Amino acid sequence: MTPVNAYAAQSATTPLTPFNFERRDVGANDVQIEILYCGVCHSDIHQVRNEWGGSIYPMVPGHEIVGRITKIGSDVKDFTIGELAGVGCFVDSCRECPSCLAHEEQYCDNGMVGTYNGRDKEGNPTYGGYSTQIVVDAKYTLHVADSLPIEGVAPLLCAGITTYSPLKHWKIGKGHKVAVVGLGGLGHMAVKFAAAFGADVTVLSTSKSKEQDALNLGAHYFAVTKDADTMKKLQGKFDFILSTISAPHEYNDYLNLLTLNGTMVVVGVPPQPSVVGAFNLIGKRRSIAGSLIGGIKETQEMLDYCAEHNIVSDVEVIKVSAINEAYERMLKGDVHYRFVIDIASLK
Ligand code: NAP
Ligand code: ZN
Ligand code: ZN
Repeated sequence: MTPVNAYAAQSATTPLTPFNFERRDVGANDVQIEILYCGVCHSDIHQVRNEWGGSIYPMVPGHEIVGRITKIGSDVKDFTIGELAGVGCFVDSCRECPSCLAHEEQYCDNGMVGTYNGRDKEGNPTYGGYSTQIVVDAKYTLHVADSLPIEGVAPLLCAGITTYSPLKHWKIGKGHKVAVVGLGGLGHMAVKFAAAFGADVTVLSTSKSKEQDALNLGAHYFAVTKDADTMKKLQGKFDFILSTISAPHEYNDYLNLLTLNGTMVVVGVPPQPSVVGAFNLIGKRRSIAGSLIGGIKETQEMLDYCAEHNIVSDVEVIKVSAINEAYERMLKGDVHYRFVIDIASLK
């Protein structure tokens, strides 16, 4: 067992504070990673505050992890000590259901093991990346290229794959009019990928102040969703909408912006359900769908694509002691466009 420094939530209503625990010994199939950077996802806030129910405390959040491998198990063949590696939202799954066999472990019939706020196969709680070190089965570990700034790579492990995967699944590219709703961690990665795939990209935001940033990130248009006239003008305009909104909102307002046969994919997970009107769907044979992160194989494909095309997240690096303030800023939409914890501040 190795002692680890971390930050944890002890309850849904208290701030994160320093916490110490031990990581398991490195097993034959494991790698041990010294964590360098960990991104801060809005899912961390939802789970720390028990907004989805079932939270396990103490909770060490963090599932956008990049670090260097310090030990490998005797049966690990495809990682070497000193190599950069990444860990995303899950660290295990059943490995035998149809989803696992199809490399879509995120949809495991028996439930994937979350990187934190989950339980491993022995029933022990899992602890995430707001910590100095992690031990993970090599099958659930990603290779990270040396060529990119690693603080910008960390958010690719969740925000990156969560937006890359649906854009790929729905084959978005040239000729598609795409709207990205919400310009935060997920939203800004969605803009980068959709633009890189050749789509015509509009950002729909509640924050007028993000307009220039949206264009700099690769969007072609920007509109403020609080403006009723603009929303009326945009009705029926988009083939594909990716909604990253983290707070309760009206789905129908966005469904109305889809053209004939258009699809809205929901990746944001507000704590309360939303109403979907039948007329908002049937009038133009519209679809609404959801998408959850991505499998290990696709996550590696996305990381390789980013290395090849020089794509990283736009980050604000913080010390771990600033985490509670960062949460408050995210809740106000004041994120440009991902907070990333410098894990050196935990040592
Ligand atoms: P984030 O960085 O906080 O960004 C969310 C953005 O949504 C905000 O910046 C804001 O953008 C917009 N927004 C917030 N409240 C809104 C409201 N009431 N109405 C309209 N827009 C609003 O969050 P994130 O890390 O990108 O995560 C977004 C959501 O995705 C969270 O719910 C998270 O749990 C979920 N998530 C899902 C998956 C998955 O696999 N499906 C994976 C990761 C995260 P503007 O200022 O531009 O309006
Ligand atoms: Zn996440
Ligand atoms: Zn499975």
